[in-house]
Amino acid sequence: MKIRRISVYQIDLPLKESYSLSGGRLVTDRLDSTFVRIDTDYGLEGWGEGCPWGHAYLPAHGQGLRASLDVLAPSLLGRDPRALETINRVMDARLPGHLYAKSPIDMACWDLVGKATGEPLWRLFGGEEPVPVEINSSIPTGTPATMVAGIERARREGYRTHSAKLGGHDAAADIERIEAIEDALVTGEQITWDINRAWTPAIALEVLNTVSSMASVEQPCETLEQCAMVARKVRQPVLLDECLHDLRDHLLAWRAGVFAGIKVKPNRLGGLTRARRIRDLAMDVGWRMHIEDVGGSALADTAAVHLATSTPRPHRLPSWPAHAHLACDPVPGQGVRNHDGFLVPTGCPGLGVVPDEKHTGPSAAVYE
Ligand code: MG
Repeated sequence: MKIRRISVYQIDLPLKESYSLSGGRLVTDRLDSTFVRIDTDYGLEGWGEGCPWGHAYLPAHGQGLRASLDVLAPSLLGRDPRALETINRVMDARLPGHLYAKSPIDMACWDLVGKATGEPLWRLFGGEEPVPVEINSSIPTGTPATMVAGIERARREGYRTHSAKLGGHDAAADIERIEAIEDALVTGEQITWDINRAWTPAIALEVLNTVSSMASVEQPCETLEQCAMVARKVRQPVLLDECLHDLRDHLLAWRAGVFAGIKVKPNRLGGLTRARRIRDLAMDVGWRMHIEDVGGSALADTAAVHLATSTPRPHRLPSWPAHAHLACDPVPGQGVRNHDGFLVPTGCPGLGVVPDEKHTGPSAAVYE
């Protein structure tokens, strides 16, 4: 099987509501997504999506992704998309770094591997059956009252696990948010305090050593070293997210010996091939993990949930469906959707999502 054509689609994804995280430092009201379609000489097509969360959340943005694809795509024509180690090596040689731009290519190749073998990705990732994956809400930074209202709304939609976005320079404000939200949780609900790098170590220690909450804290500070310093001096389990990019980062995190788990996001890590490698490492070292993507439509969410559902329960934490925040749907009715608080991929070969140009609009670039 050879890659004959790579088509790139730019898709604007407006959010239902402006989204504030990191204590209000990062505000986003639309996402700039890129769909990739790979056509082969076998007559099969594979799809992938790369969607940074705005342009300030990570060193990644939509225009940069498509500019990188302009460099990468010509080197992949004529290659076998099933040879994923080769595909990734070719991309790394052509353009070092820029992992987020490689993710939609890698995802589309996995879709083709599934279609060529007749298997859903969850089976290729080691799953026995598509176990329903619990959903995780994402509550933007706001006043205690608006955040509690956000959790109540999420609860009505079936969410039992929540991620509340905090952070900033006002320790008292975050303490107030944590106490109010903790009081509003009902029996059986879980919460994570996601700081998105916004605290200095001193503020992290002040907040976490004041509150009574023992819930997990995610990415409290900018760097792995700062997060480790905090993790050694607080009672709450600390998870890592944005400071993890490659395998070396994960090995350093493991050697620090103080982290309880990680976020596994294909777009941040460079695709499903690398995300699976990190998932396997995380299981070996005993971490728990949320497996979900950085952002995007139900296409990106479905790819991540294929990996999540194939991950044994003791290591798997709930997954966040990014598409739940969108005011539009470029793959209507397809892919994982919230059913009573769970996401379940189908048994269709590959990703099980086939976008239609009727909804994506025409391609922005074609390489052949
Ligand atoms: Mg996070």
